Amino acid sequence: MAVLKIARLGSPVLRQIAAPVDPDTIGKRVFQQFLDDMLDTMVETDGIGLAAPQVSRSEQVAVMECKGEHGFPQTILINPVIVGYSPATAESWEGCLSVDNLRGKVTRPVGVRVTYLDRDGTSVELDAVGLYAVCIQHELDHLIGKLFLDRMTDFSTLTQLEEFDKYWRAEHAEVI
Ligand code: ZN
Repeated sequence: MAVLKIARLGSPVLRQIAAPVDPDTIGKRVFQQFLDDMLDTMVETDGIGLAAPQVSRSEQVAVMECKGEHGFPQTILINPVIVGYSPATAESWEGCLSVDNLRGKVTRPVGVRVTYLDRDGTSVELDAVGLYAVCIQHELDHLIGKLFLDRMTDFSTLTQLEEFDKYWRAEHAEVI
């Protein structure tokens, strides 16, 4: 197990366009180890999603998992592409391991259809809604150099974590 160092706001890698993964490398031991390291890092830092640029690797890889009633299964997305969005949008609270201590409201489509390669290199098409869809959009934004801050249209909701817990957490139990 290895916990990787998180690149934080201001690191140039977070603003780069990530390169696609060569499908031939997916089955290689070193790449599989990298996926496990990403999962370990996500769990150790209490995140529900992590994109490779956040551990300073500018590659099109994201991992996510959220346990619990409103959660979603462990998902590893390699070379993901969002191929469809629901017309309906919703506002939800987001935070980011690369943006310490801040949360803010972001409006995004409620549902997405995404295609990707899984850790076996198998091509997958997935429809996701709710928190799962928000997480996919948030993580895939990292692959094009975008942070949730860039998606905020009203900075009046930007809040420090302690104040979020004090004033806002009860309003929305789930947070990215
Ligand atoms: Zn993030």
